[in-house]
Amino acid sequence: MTVVRYERRGPVAVVTMNRPQYRNAQNSAMTYALDEAFYRAVADDEVKVIVLAGEGKHFSAGHDIGTPGRDAHVSFDRRASLWWDHVGKEGAESRFARESEVYLGMCRRWREIPKPTIAMVQGACIAGGLMLAWVCDLIVASDDAFFADPVVRMGIPGVEYFAHPWAMPPRIAKEFLFTGDRMPARRAYEVGMVNRVVAREELEAETFALAERIAAMPRLGLALTKKAVNQAEDLQGMHAGMDSVFGLHHLAHAHNAETSADSLAGMDPKSMKAAADGS
Ligand code: ZN
Repeated sequence: MTVVRYERRGPVAVVTMNRPQYRNAQNSAMTYALDEAFYRAVADDEVKVIVLAGEGKHFSAGHDIGTPGRDAHVSFDRRASLWWDHVGKEGAESRFARESEVYLGMCRRWREIPKPTIAMVQGACIAGGLMLAWVCDLIVASDDAFFADPVVRMGIPGVEYFAHPWAMPPRIAKEFLFTGDRMPARRAYEVGMVNRVVAREELEAETFALAERIAAMPRLGLALTKKAVNQAEDLQGMHAGMDSVFGLHHLAHAHNAETSADSLAGMDPKSMKAAADGS
């Protein structure tokens, strides 16, 4: 089964994560398939807008930290960075090289896609899933959607693409991270993190209606407008801020590796869920 589906509906390309049995947990195979799909959409002159979707009940449960398809120890042809292959390296060197490429690097690359992107989010949008929604220009969420970054439970200060204080006000970002609680779609709308909240059964129609409206704008105008806003965010420190937090993130991974079972403090999807349910 292909881990990412690609289709075109008029001027809109739809890129769909397709591991519904694992709530679209993102392994490296999916990362590179997403990159391939985005590249294809950018190269196609008929495509004006790109929608990123998740098959099934959930948008994405985050990075793959425990499915049978987990492939963190596999080499891929790197595209987002010039870091050497993480395979065959040890400790922080392996982790830093890998995450520079598949997490921070890929997300930054996708944020710069020169066509408008819309995340169409239902159900869970957790940790690595948040990164995928955040790199999109707009987010349309169904009323059953929820957002969470629970990695502080692993002793880690947020996911690799640290957009939290730009995606929401800093004090809200702290609460979001300190508690690891689920932020419902309605609350995400209130704090300005998502553009629309619609009924679950209307999610697709509303998202495509918005995409069609945007598609009527001139291609270069859209590309330049996107760049203008992205540059403004970077002038507000987003790019440099993420680099500095990436260092803290890797300090946390290294501390975990030094003092516990592994770089994730011995946590897996099961123990993360149990901890969340018990609190
Ligand atoms: Zn990490």
